[in-house]
Amino acid sequence: MTSILNADLHCHSVVSDGTLTPEALAARAKTNGVALWALTDHDEIGGQQRAAAAARTLGLHYLTGVEISVTFINQTVHIVGLGFDPENPALQLGLSQTRGGRKQRAMDMAAGLAKVGIQGAFEGALKFVVNHNLISRTHFARFLVESGVCRDTNEVFRKYLTEGKPGYVEHRWASLKDAVTWITQAGGVAVIAHPARYKFTANQEFALFTEFKGHGGQGVEVVTGSHTAAEYLTYADTAREFDLAASRGSDFHSPDESHTELGTLPYLPGNLTPVWELLLDRIQQAPDTSPETPVSMGH
Ligand code: AMP
Ligand code: MN
Ligand code: MN
Ligand code: MN
Repeated sequence: MTSILNADLHCHSVVSDGTLTPEALAARAKTNGVALWALTDHDEIGGQQRAAAAARTLGLHYLTGVEISVTFINQTVHIVGLGFDPENPALQLGLSQTRGGRKQRAMDMAAGLAKVGIQGAFEGALKFVVNHNLISRTHFARFLVESGVCRDTNEVFRKYLTEGKPGYVEHRWASLKDAVTWITQAGGVAVIAHPARYKFTANQEFALFTEFKGHGGQGVEVVTGSHTAAEYLTYADTAREFDLAASRGSDFHSPDESHTELGTLPYLPGNLTPVWELLLDRIQQAPDTSPETPVSMGH
C-alpha cells in the first residue's frame, strides 16, 4: 500500500471541540480530495456512527477514530486510536471515565477566571458546547473571544488557559497503559498524536516512546497540522528508530480557527510504513471500490 494517499486521520466535530458536524466534516473531506478519513473526537466516540454513515454515502473510506487524553510524567499527551470496534465495552467505559472529570474541571476553571474578573465563564463556555459530556478548554476560548476579552483562541490559551494562567486547572487524565490497552484490545491501532507539541526532555520523550511500544502502541503522527516541515523529518526518523508506523492528520477543528485545512497536508515520506497498512481489514470501504483495491490512490 502506498504512502501517496490523501488520508486524514485526525480531526474534531461538535461531538468534542470542533465546530462542524460529522456530516459537514465528511463533506469537507470529500471536497478536499480525502480518500481515507477518520473522525477523532477527544475522549468520545459518540460521533462514529454518523461519521461512518456520511463517509459511506459520500464514497470515502473510513476508519473509526478517537483522541484519548493521557497524563504521562505530569504532562498531557494525546493518543489517537484508529480502527477499533466502537462497541467494545472496555473502551466505552474507559472513555466515559476519562471524560468524567471534565465538568468539575470546567467549574474550577471558571472559578479561576472569576478571580481575575471574568464572570460567568462556565455558563458562557456551555453555550458553545453541543455534547454536554465534553466541555473543553476550547469552549472557554470561544466564549472569551465572543465576549471580547481576547482577539482569537490562540491569545486566550496563551493568556488564560495554559499552565500557570488563571483559567488553568491541573487534571489527571487516563494512564498511557490504559489508553493504549483500550484501543488495542478493541482491535485498533494506538498512535502518539503530534509528538512535537509536548515539552519533554529527550529522556522523557524516549520514555514515552519506549513505554508506548511496551504497552502495544504501533504508530506515531509524523505529518500533522501541529508539526512544522522540519518536525515531519524529525519524527519520520523517530518512527524508523522505534519501528512505528506513521500517521497523517490535519487536527482540523473549525473553518474559522484551524490553520490546517482537512486533507491538505503533504504526503507521508515514502520510506515509512503508513499506519493504514496495519489497518487494511479495519477500513470501511467506500461502496464503489472493488475488494482488490482496498484504498484508492490519492490524486
Ligand atoms: P482540553 O482537552 O479541554 O484540555 O482542551 C484541549 C484542546 O484545546 C486541544 O485539543 C486543542 O483543540 C485546544 N488547544 C490547546 N492549546 C491550544 C492553543 N495554544 N491554541 C488553540 N487551541 C488550543
Ligand atoms: Mn481539540
Ligand atoms: Mn491533540
Ligand atoms: Mn486533536
